This record gives sequence, structure tokens and C-alpha cells, in this order.
Amino acid sequence: MALGKDYATQECSIARALEIIGERWTLLVIRDALYGVRRYNDFLVHLGIPRAVLAARLQALTAEGILEKRRYQQSPPRDEYVITERGIALWPALRSLGLWGRQHYTEIQLRYFRHADCGTELGPYGECPACATVVPVEDVLMEPGPGLDPDPADPVSRALLVPRRLLQPLELPVQPGRV
Ligand SMILES: [Zn+2]
Repeated sequence: MALGKDYATQECSIARALEIIGERWTLLVIRDALYGVRRYNDFLVHLGIPRAVLAARLQALTAEGILEKRRYQQSPPRDEYVITERGIALWPALRSLGLWGRQHYTEIQLRYFRHADCGTELGPYGECPACATVVPVEDVLMEPGPGLDPDPADPVSRALLVPRRLLQPLELPVQPGRV
């Protein structure tokens, strides 16, 4: 449901951003896209999201230029959803949000995000405290933490058990019936 449309609300840039990314599931779709998830079925199994909701979110994010729809197979036609620069720019906000959640609501560490060059864990804005630099998203190394299920049921979670850089496309073997 959209936020209020009154003039004062429209002028606030946080309210404007929440019009786009404030719906349930939306930030988790963006999170997965940063992890390298691109395909409908991979989002579906990893998020456990209702199909209709996922389809609506992917469509909305594509319309907003946060994801870009690309055809990766012609016959039968298959599309994937690749995060754009506009979507990648949300990474520091997601990093901050994740740390805030861990500080206030759950101490379980599912993943570490490190500067690939030096191995230092990133600060709350996606910066490397050791190198005193903002780390480009493609240079962020994601590693499993102690709270992550070591034997997950879905293939996307299994693939994400291996340390990998953000944005690196997740490529799973195609199985019969996969969309
Ligand atoms: Zn560093």
C-alpha cells in the first residue's frame, strides 16, 4: 500500500524512497539481487515468497530501473533480473540496516561482509575501516557466519554457503521444471 500522497510527505526523500522500496519483500529481493540471484526460480526458492508477490515485486523493481530484465535463453524464452546501478546504490543502506537489526534484534551472525583486498569486515556504511575507503560493491566478499544453516534445503542457500563476491551471478545447474 502506498504511503500518503500529501505534499509534505512527497517532499521527504525518505518517504519518496519508501514508496519504491518500502513494500514487504522488496528489500529482500534487492538483497538477493546483490548476492547474485538473478532468476525467478532462484528468488522463489531462496525467499520462500508467494509467486504472485514475487512477480509483482520483480515487475515493479524493473519499472523503477532497480532491476533490468535480460533474456538469457531464447528457446524457450527465459529472462533474468540483473541489479542496476540504481539498485546497487542501495547496498550501504542495506548494510546499515543489517547491522542495526543485529545490534537491536538478533545477535545471530549469518554472514560476514569483508573487503576482498584485505579481509577486514566492513563498517556500517560499506566502508573498510582498515583501508579507510568505501569498498566498491563488487569488491565485497560475502562469507558464511556461525548462524548460517550448514545444510540448507534449497540450492540457492547451498550455493551461498561458499564465500563469494557480491554481484557475482549465481549460476546453478538447470534442473527439469526450473523456470
Ligand atoms: Zn580494506
